[in-house]
Amino acid sequence: MKGTVLYGPRDVRYVERDDPKIVDPTDVIIRMSATCVCGSDLWPYRGVDLPGQPTLMGHEYCGIVEEVSRGVKKVKKGQFVVGSFFASDNTCEICNAGYQSRCTHAEYVGAGGAQSPYLRIPLADGTLVATPELPSNDMLPGLLATSDVLGTGWFGADAAAVAPGKTVAVVGDGAVGLCGVIAAKYIGAERIIIMSRHEARQKLAREFGATDIVTERGDEGVARIKELTKGLGAHSTIEAVGSQESMLQAIRSTRPGGHVGFVGVSHGVELPGQELFYSEVHLHGGPAPVRRYLPELIDLVLRGAIDPGKVFDLTLPLEQVAEGYRAMDERRAIKTLLTV
Ligand SMILES: [Zn+2]
Ligand SMILES: [Zn+2]
Repeated sequence: MKGTVLYGPRDVRYVERDDPKIVDPTDVIIRMSATCVCGSDLWPYRGVDLPGQPTLMGHEYCGIVEEVSRGVKKVKKGQFVVGSFFASDNTCEICNAGYQSRCTHAEYVGAGGAQSPYLRIPLADGTLVATPELPSNDMLPGLLATSDVLGTGWFGADAAAVAPGKTVAVVGDGAVGLCGVIAAKYIGAERIIIMSRHEARQKLAREFGATDIVTERGDEGVARIKELTKGLGAHSTIEAVGSQESMLQAIRSTRPGGHVGFVGVSHGVELPGQELFYSEVHLHGGPAPVRRYLPELIDLVLRGAIDPGKVFDLTLPLEQVAEGYRAMDERRAIKTLLTV
C-alpha cells in the first residue's frame, strides 16, 4: 500500500510502504476511515527534532477492524474503533490511575504511521474503544477528533482543574487549544479567555464558548488577562503550544493557588525556579491520557452534545497529504482531515 513518509524538512510524500502486519497476539489491523495531520506533526516537518531516516507519519485514527490476532478478546472484526496515539493495556496500576499514556506497556501507535489506509494497533483490547454501531460519515470528523486533539484539550482542562464558575485562560489557538475551549465550556467554566491573533480561529473559539479574546502576547498578554480578572489571573490555564514563551505566559496568567494544565509538546522549555516558587501555581500536564476520556467523549460526539469536528477546516484525499501539511504549516488551515 501507499502511506505518508517524511524524508526531511518540509518533504513529506505519499509513497509505497510496507503493509502493516500482526506482530503480537494482542494486535489488530484497522482499515482507516479517516485520519489527519496533527499540530505536533509540524515539529518534525519543520525540521525540529527531525527523525534521522524516512519516517512513517500520523498518529490520529479511527476505522474498521480488519484483522484480529489470536489473543484479542474484546475487539471484534468489523467494529468501528477509535484509539489514542499511545497503546495501553488499560490494566496496570498506572492505567488504573488514569494515566494510560504512560502505561507500563505503552507503545507509540504512530510508529505504524496512521496517515495510511491501514494501521497496526498494539494492545488492542486496552487501546481501542468501539462505537455501539457503525457511525455515519458525517460523524467521522468528530470521532476522529476524540483520538487526540479533543482528548488532549480535555486533559488540559482537567489538569488545569477547570470547574463550574471558574475563569479559564487558553494559551494556543490551534486545534488542541480550541478543544480546550470546548472542554471548559462543557465543564461549566464561567469565563473562557483565549489568546489568539487569527480571525478564523477567534471565530471558532467564540462558537465553542470563548467569552474573551486576547490578541496581545508576552508581558502585554499577561497584563491583559490580569486586567480581565481583577488583577489576579485565571483560576485555570490551559497551555497548548509547548514553547518557552507559551509556558511562561500560562504560568504568569494564572493566579496564586491556580492550576496550569500543560499539553503542548514541550520544546526547549526551561522554567526559572525562583519565579516558579513564588508563582504558587499547580503545574500538571504531559502526553494526554486520551484513553481515560475516550468512552465519554465518543458518547458526547455521538449524542451531538459537542462538535469538535469543526476544528477540521480542510479536507483532502490522503494522496494529497503534502498539501495538508503545507496548509497547516502556513496557517492557512487549523487542521487537515484526510479521507481514505
Ligand atoms: Zn496529534
Ligand atoms: Zn497500563
